[in-house]
Amino acid sequence: MAFELPTLPYAYTALEPHIDARTMEIHHSKHHQAYTTNLNNAIAGTDMESMSIEAILKVCKDKPAVRNNGGGFWNHNLFWEIMAPNAGGNPSGELAAAIDSAFGSYEAFKDEFAKAATTRFGSGWAWLCVTNGALEICSTANQDNPLMGEGCNGTPILCLDVWEHAYYLNYQNRRPDYINAFFNVINWDVVGAKFAAAK
Ligand code: MN
Repeated sequence: MAFELPTLPYAYTALEPHIDARTMEIHHSKHHQAYTTNLNNAIAGTDMESMSIEAILKVCKDKPAVRNNGGGFWNHNLFWEIMAPNAGGNPSGELAAAIDSAFGSYEAFKDEFAKAATTRFGSGWAWLCVTNGALEICSTANQDNPLMGEGCNGTPILCLDVWEHAYYLNYQNRRPDYINAFFNVINWDVVGAKFAAAK
């Protein structure tokens, strides 16, 4: 069965002023749609048509069209899910304890995550992952992700898209401002549930 573009769980305007509606609309309806369509085209007529996207990601490294578009499909699915309007603030419960344990404090986590996102040269993603029950931060290039064995090789529970298409209309070259704004829209309830499932 063909992969389908997921419906956004909130309106295009919902993340303003942190992420503007025009960027959200183009990002979801054009970019994510294109990854979805091109993934389906790339796997048509192959064994991958009957595989889950997670299984595809494990075997696509030498297939550039599947790697780029399969990564783009999966990465954006997670990205939309871990954001929400009226979100942000601090994580709580077991996730907060794990963040303190891995990074020292929530503020130190923010600094390290922002550094990973800022220093990713060109296009890519920053990730918070679970590896053997513990949290790790990494970044990957293009539409690669840790499920492919890139970056820290863990299970992603939080991600940030740092392709220019994710911020350029509103922030132009100011990637650090976009990264700072992202912390205001993180849905920690969803990230916490993903942590509980992955640890
Ligand atoms: Mn994107």
